[in-house]
Amino acid sequence: MSAADVESRPSPIAGLGLFAKREFTEGERISRYSGVTTLEPPSAASSGGKVYALEIAPGRWLDGTSEDNPSRHANHACHPNAELIWHEEESEAWLTARRPITAGEEITFDYGFSLAESLFHPCACGASDCVGRIIATPLRPALRRHLRFSRPRD
Ligand SMILES: [Zn+2]
Repeated sequence: MSAADVESRPSPIAGLGLFAKREFTEGERISRYSGVTTLEPPSAASSGGKVYALEIAPGRWLDGTSEDNPSRHANHACHPNAELIWHEEESEAWLTARRPITAGEEITFDYGFSLAESLFHPCACGASDCVGRIIATPLRPALRRHLRFSRPRD
């Protein structure tokens, strides 16, 4: 990976997004997600309101809030073209292509949020079947049930 492989710029999904500047093949490493690993989930208070933390293993988080981590701009999408893979032996996390990616495409991955987290994080990925919340793929049926039962009666 080199600095010319990806760029951060305004995204139609949210804020700044991470975009491919060249083609990537399926399985190729796109951009390193650099940060510090901690045993506590970093709080919004300690990072100026925005949290770029990912649970890489049960009870272990990677805090990617640093400005040196352009990968923190990668948005969540309901049908992401990348996934974040933690490489234990290298102690590094990499955004990795789930399918071939063309130059100019926005890089997205599944934030893996819990049902509780999802309620405070709307998704605007633009997919026709967007679930409307940022939530881990396996939890989407549970979210759909929750939204059905919590819909106000008229
Ligand atoms: Zn979505």
